[in-house]
Formats: sequence, structure tokens, C-alpha cells
Amino acid sequence: MSLKVYVNGAYVDSEDAKVSVWDHGFLYGDGVFEGIRAYGGRVFRLEQHLERLYESALSIRLTIPVTLAEMREVVLETCRRNHIVDGYIRVVISRGKGDLGLDPRKCASPSVVVIADKIKLYPEEKYTRGLRVIISSVRRTSPEALDSKIKSLNYLNNILAKIEANTTDADEAVMLNSNGFVTECTAENIFVYKNGVLRTPGRYVGILEGVTRGAVIDLARRNNILVEETMINPHDLYVADEVFLTGTGAELVPVVSISGRNVGTGAPGPVFQRLLKEFRHLTQQEGTLIHSDVALTSVSASDLASE
Ligand code: PMP
Repeated sequence: MSLKVYVNGAYVDSEDAKVSVWDHGFLYGDGVFEGIRAYGGRVFRLEQHLERLYESALSIRLTIPVTLAEMREVVLETCRRNHIVDGYIRVVISRGKGDLGLDPRKCASPSVVVIADKIKLYPEEKYTRGLRVIISSVRRTSPEALDSKIKSLNYLNNILAKIEANTTDADEAVMLNSNGFVTECTAENIFVYKNGVLRTPGRYVGILEGVTRGAVIDLARRNNILVEETMINPHDLYVADEVFLTGTGAELVPVVSISGRNVGTGAPGPVFQRLLKEFRHLTQQEGTLIHSDVALTSVSASDLASE
């Protein structure tokens, strides 16, 4: 059975889900997007993802032609039409159809696409054995050029780092900023644990502020782990007790080697294991119900705990 994809107001079969070659998302990467997960019939942190989407759009002066409340319903309805219980949702807003010049004033109306499908995670062995990563020679685009807090359709910089990882047979690439500080991987944030403190690069170092990153910081603090958002350099990674990555697709995934150096014991560490367990527990408890007459229904872990 064909997937149903939301394209500009209609739910169409996936083979009919098309945007124009004149769309400036295609011609120039002019647009924003989100990747969201559904677990057990609930959409995880839908509000946060939509907030980031609308903030990204605001930052690039792209007016999304549906309200945030309507978008929430479109996401849920796309899940319903595709019988999603556990899945991955992609929301893409591009500047829309224009001409061959890059002037966005030529684009009459932004394109809105929502896809809901099954997720292809890292294979399970990556969670038990860990990833081998490199430090990429490709620097993360400077926030002075394009703020990394905007989840834009411009991923070429990250893709070049991913290609470098692929060509060196690594699983992922750590990207540094122009001052040599660690920012993030190509589609995941990074955490470093050493001597009882969990550290992650701060929001002004040139990262996308991940929804998973936020959830992991909260979980760590609730578990009495000291968390610092700070500057991290490659040496800090090499000498860490543990390193792991976070992202909507990856959840939490451990790193066991960095540019040929073993991290800690060379196996996923206990802090990672504990936080992964906590995170997976959280995703089963919290989220916006896909099948509900009340579209806004959302149950948080703290609500459940207080019941
Ligand atoms: N950084 C980048 C560059 C990303 O593309 C992603 C994936 N959205 C992340 C970090 C992780 O963010 P999140 O936890 O919101 O998926």
C-alpha cells in the first residue's frame, strides 16, 4: 500500500507527492525542516519540534502558510493515514515555486510537505558496540554566516563531513567550528562524560539545539548527574571516559573510538547505558497522542509520576 504524503493541503499517494523543479528548496536549498519521532502511538516532543520549525522559518523570513495549530493536526493526520505507531515524521517547508533567480520575492507561496514513515535506525549492534567517529576536516558553517540554530535545507557542509567519514570507514564525523572547538556531528549533538561531569557544547558554539539534547540534559540532571554546556575541544574527546551522540533518528548512540583513539575502555559506558534506558522509558510515556479526539492531548512523564 502506498504511503500518503501531505503536499500543500492534500494527502496524496507517495508516487504523486511532487514539488516543482522551480521550487527554491530544490534550486537553492531555501527552506527549513524538522525530523520528529513517534513512539507507541504518541509523537515525541511535537510542540518543541514545531516551535523550532516556526522559529527557523521566522529567522529566514519564510511565512509558513498554515498556523502552528493546523500544522500540529496535519502531522497527526499524516501519521493516522499511514497507521504510524512507531515512526519518523519529516516536515519540509520550502520557499516555493519561483524562477531561476534566487530572489524569494518571485516565490508566490511556500511548499509544505509532511511525510510519515518507518524509521531506519542505526543497527542494534551500534548501540551495544558503539560508533567509530573521526574529527572531520570540514568545519561547521559559522553561525556568523548561517545560524546553526536554524534547521535549514542547507546540509551540504554536514554532507561533506559525512562523505569524509564514509571514505575513512568511520560511522560519523565530529565537526569543529572555525576556532577548533567541537560543535556536533553531521546530524547529532555530542556529549562527553569525564570525572563525574557530563559536558556538551553550548548553544552559541555553532550547534543545532537538539530536542534529544534537551531531553538528555533534563534526564541527566534528574539523575543527579552534573551537566555543563561549555566549550569542548578534540583533546577533551580523546581523554573522555565516555562520549555519546544524541538525535531524533539516533536517540542516544555511544562512541567508542575517535580518530583512532579508544574512548575510555573502548566499550559503551555506564552513564550512556543509564541515560539510554531513561530516554527510552521517557519516549514510551510522553507525547502527543496520534489517535485522540483531542488533538492537543499530551501526557508528560511528570504528570504520570504525580498520578
Ligand atoms: N544537529 C544537527 C545538525 C541535526 O541535523 C540534528 C538532527 N535534527 C541534531 C543535531 C539533533 O537534533 P534533534 O535531537 O532535535 O533531532
